Amino acid sequence: MTYEAVIGLEIHAQLQTQTKIFCGCSTAFGAPPNAHVCPVCLGFPGVLPVLNHDAVDLAIRASMAIGCRVNETSVFARKNYFYPDLPKGYQISQYEQPLASEGHVEFNGPAGPRRVQITRVHMEEDAGKSLHEGFADSDRKTYMDYNRAGTPLIEIVTEPDLRSAGDAAAFFEHLRGILVWLGVNDGNMEEGSLRCDANVSVRPTGTTTLGTKAEVKNLNSFRFLQKAVEYEIERQIDLLKEGGRVRQETRLFDSAAGVTVSMRSKEEAHDYRYFPDPDLPALILDAARIEANRSAMPELPAARRQRFVAGLGLPEYDAAQLTQTRALSDYFEAAVAAGGAPKAVSNWMMGELARSLNESGRDIQASPVTPDKLAGLLALIEQGTISGAIAKGVFETMMATGQEAAAIVSAQGLTQIDDESQIVGLIADVIAKNADAVAGYRAGKTATFGFLVGQVMKAAAGKANPKRVNDLLKRALETI
Ligand code: ADP
Ligand code: ZN
Ligand code: MG
Repeated sequence: MTYEAVIGLEIHAQLQTQTKIFCGCSTAFGAPPNAHVCPVCLGFPGVLPVLNHDAVDLAIRASMAIGCRVNETSVFARKNYFYPDLPKGYQISQYEQPLASEGHVEFNGPAGPRRVQITRVHMEEDAGKSLHEGFADSDRKTYMDYNRAGTPLIEIVTEPDLRSAGDAAAFFEHLRGILVWLGVNDGNMEEGSLRCDANVSVRPTGTTTLGTKAEVKNLNSFRFLQKAVEYEIERQIDLLKEGGRVRQETRLFDSAAGVTVSMRSKEEAHDYRYFPDPDLPALILDAARIEANRSAMPELPAARRQRFVAGLGLPEYDAAQLTQTRALSDYFEAAVAAGGAPKAVSNWMMGELARSLNESGRDIQASPVTPDKLAGLLALIEQGTISGAIAKGVFETMMATGQEAAAIVSAQGLTQIDDESQIVGLIADVIAKNADAVAGYRAGKTATFGFLVGQVMKAAAGKANPKRVNDLLKRALETI
């Protein structure tokens, strides 16, 4: 018997607001512990939460980007449980009436295009952080840092539509790309801004009833998601093959050991006693608010990729590379707007520019060669003022100094030698000095042609127009 895996994801993404969801405290990462706290996010009695509308707008845009219907009415509820990182004793989260419902996402998995239904997007607040120290009973300590408590989150819940660990990881990566593109989330998974719970079950291939699922909590990298799901699928299949049953439970991924371990079973699961938060009115979104967000939406990566292919004639591969981030595609568009030929801009961006930025550890936004300046360099190549080979050197200087290509070319006397009589003179010299190679060529050893071209280019200090050198040399060798 063979088995099929069924996977659904729950993704938590911090919204990039300046302040928390129900108070004015800063959401900045990395402050000293408990620097960004107040009576509201510390859950003091008698305080009142006030909803941050920037968070709502970001959540609306994220929902729209994944094809969801934004609901006119959504309701914040209290999810009650005790934990030291939750000072109020409850988390405020949308429950029965979420912000948005019923979307879908298309992405490329390792084995081809895939589609995942989105069940819902709801808003909630993050909890604080516990820091554990020491192992021996005598010196074990736990510290509480409430800076993160009250940071706005969206939770995106998918239908159980994924069928492999690779698809799950690819979907998560695709979703991250969209959220970062929108400016909704900073994509920083090490800092915990984006994390994922994976629900996994297996069933005999060909059947349609869902098997019992296990949920693996808090996966904060694509690789951990992939590894955890792979492990979980294998564990469950082995269990079934031995005649056992999968228990519905919550598990944790031990990344060092590469295994998932049980945290609590369904029987130990909390009853959260959800009820609408009496301190917060229902969130009512009128059509104008929803429309304002729709028109503020940037063009999404998939649409931009298509436009690059259909409108600018880029190959699919280039378009996919250039739309990996909004900054990359903005750079590309600006260089094309400044007169660069699309494919030439793309080649330079994926080649020299990417390499150079990578070496200097810089983001494209900080590139000394701005889109305008790259277009300027390409124009010099296009006009035949410099050769492609010389252009690489000019580009290096541009990266180092931030100067315009034209200024470097004229200061360093790099203008291409295009003048026929000048090139013919160089060729005559090379032919005179390399009688053997010339004789070889004429005897049919055409491989020596490349050598002779090299000699002419060398004599011209690399500045001769290579096409002209080729043509004129061929003529010289065949006519003399
Ligand atoms: P719960 O009530 O345990 O929270 P939900 O029905 O709310 O479960 O689903 C939570 C997540 O688990 C969703 O992403 C959903 O797609 C996924 N899921 C539900 N049932 C299964 C299953 N049998 N196998 C894999 N994933 C599942
Ligand atoms: Zn606060
Ligand atoms: Mg659920």
